[in-house]
Amino acid sequence: MHVSSKIYIQNLVKKNNGSGSILFYGLNNGPKFSLAHYAIQMLNCYQLKNQEPCGVCSACVKLKALNHPDLHIILPLPNEKKIDGRALAAWKKHIIKNNQLNFEEWKRIIASELGTEKEPSIGSEKISQISSILKLRNFEAKKRIVLIWHAEKLNTIASNKILKMLEEPPDKTYFIFVASDKDELIDTVKSRLEGIHVKEKISAQISETPHRNKDLDYAFATNTEESPANENFKKFQTWMRACHSKNIIELNDLNLEISKRKKGGYLSFMTFCVNKLSFCCRYVVQNKDDAQSNEEMVFIRKFCKHLKLKTLVLLLEEIESSIYYLERNANSKILFLSLSINLFKIFDEN
Ligand SMILES: [Zn+2]
Repeated sequence: MHVSSKIYIQNLVKKNNGSGSILFYGLNNGPKFSLAHYAIQMLNCYQLKNQEPCGVCSACVKLKALNHPDLHIILPLPNEKKIDGRALAAWKKHIIKNNQLNFEEWKRIIASELGTEKEPSIGSEKISQISSILKLRNFEAKKRIVLIWHAEKLNTIASNKILKMLEEPPDKTYFIFVASDKDELIDTVKSRLEGIHVKEKISAQISETPHRNKDLDYAFATNTEESPANENFKKFQTWMRACHSKNIIELNDLNLEISKRKKGGYLSFMTFCVNKLSFCCRYVVQNKDDAQSNEEMVFIRKFCKHLKLKTLVLLLEEIESSIYYLERNANSKILFLSLSINLFKIFDEN
């Protein structure tokens, strides 16, 4: 799971208490749906643990299975009313098995399981139907959810109908859009949505592999690396300072040092930095001053004081995506430099 996106969702959920509209978008097979699914559970869990959905309360269980009376799902369907129910059941079955199910695969499923070759789309009738449901009260959920999967398949009339709902959102209702290409949405709809760009990751990284999640956990001052946490932290500090002040000499020295490391090298250092930046994001979101006054905390307090959450998330995202390339054996020294230059820009522009 993308740590930066999770933090973004947590913050968004905290900020918008009544209602909201979020768009998860990204080309290819990125984990757009799994992030949307995560957000839906976050919004409704009865007992969040460390800001994460618990996975066991009644809301989490129902939403995980996509069977909740307050979850309304809209997806591209072949325009044949009599198979709508079967299509929805087929979609749930497949998306739970493969949360990266794409539109082409969905078309093939419709053809093979429902026996129609009609091009699926999202028509206005479905939107009208949802609109009348939304006039009623929620059954049980804290936040009612309207999930629109492959929202770029909304036709024009449907888009305009949905726009009306977005303009005057019913209370306690969230609209969650998932789309491949945000530019295929009409501008007026797009402008009403908080967009989260989901970049592509390999499936091993987004599947819920527990140890992987643990690696990127928000724990503070944990030393999961072989080299001392202290050493990693000093490097993290140097790196952030060097990027902030565009100190190329310091950056080159640091690059050389990391390249000479015997254990872990770049990958372990980057993972450490993602971990620390996640902690910084949490620190900013919770606005909770940690009583600890060790060296690390002194730096983090100062560092966070001057940065907006958005900047921290951008830094985190940038480093996360470099991990992706490091795992694919990119030239680490060059990658480190170009990544640092990207960080210069983030510090500059924010
Ligand atoms: Zn729960």
